[in-house]
Amino acid sequence: MTDTETTTESTDVKHRSQSLLRIEDVYKSYGDERVLRGVSLEIDRGDVEVLVGPSGSGKSTLLRCLNRLTEVNDGQIYLGDLEVTGETNADEIRQQIGMVFQDINLFAHLTARKNIMLGLQKVRGMDKEDARDRADAELARVGLADQAESYPAQLSGGQKQRVGIARALAMDPEVMLFDEPTSALDPELSNEVLAVMRELVAEGMTMVVVTHEMRFARGAASSISFLENGEIVERGSPDRMFDDPTHERTKRFFESIS
Ligand code: ADP
Ligand code: MG
Repeated sequence: MTDTETTTESTDVKHRSQSLLRIEDVYKSYGDERVLRGVSLEIDRGDVEVLVGPSGSGKSTLLRCLNRLTEVNDGQIYLGDLEVTGETNADEIRQQIGMVFQDINLFAHLTARKNIMLGLQKVRGMDKEDARDRADAELARVGLADQAESYPAQLSGGQKQRVGIARALAMDPEVMLFDEPTSALDPELSNEVLAVMRELVAEGMTMVVVTHEMRFARGAASSISFLENGEIVERGSPDRMFDDPTHERTKRFFESIS
């Protein structure tokens, strides 16, 4: 083994012990379309990574790979010692990596409380009493203690999205993924969802967030990654990405949205 190889290996080992979530050279295609083209990213425990980029750049696909809603074609993803892209059961991964989507996907025939209890009973095998207590605690955490008995149709978009967050949190995830959680909401309702997300940031939750909410990104992100055509073009601190982006494409993107 040469010196170079030794150095590379020890650096690698160091990273493995440091970063909670590690995305290593991930490729994903749909048919002929190469959607992710060698994405690598390391996210430390308690950090908030915000993903930005034009529509179609692969942001949602990357999040979907992170909790095995879709399989990568090449590359590895690790959560601590667990290989997400390995043989592990996808349900196990989805408990540890919770996801909140733009489209709020609650069961219409179940109350807010029952929507949360379902996974606790079915996936985690909790008994009804415990599941109910946990569901109510999570509803309180997102400011919806008084809506436990409400059905989705009786809730606002912002409240439904907060139930979705509570449902993911009930699984005790190590990481939370958010895919444009406020894009379908009016500004006022967006703010109540963003407030819950800021609360999670303050509690030290590790998060990967795709969002157009630049105030949130600037205030909450540990770092921002700019994706284009399935590649991370640039990554940096919020201040640097907003005020002093290196790449012309990043500059143009931030100009176009501000
Ligand atoms: P973004 O979230 O950045 O807008 P996506 O990850 O949704 O980007 O999509 C990236 C590209 O992959 C798009 O061209 C989209 O059409 C394509 N794509 C995404 N999901 C699928 C799928 N399930 N089947 C085929 N193509 C897909
Ligand atoms: Mg998307």
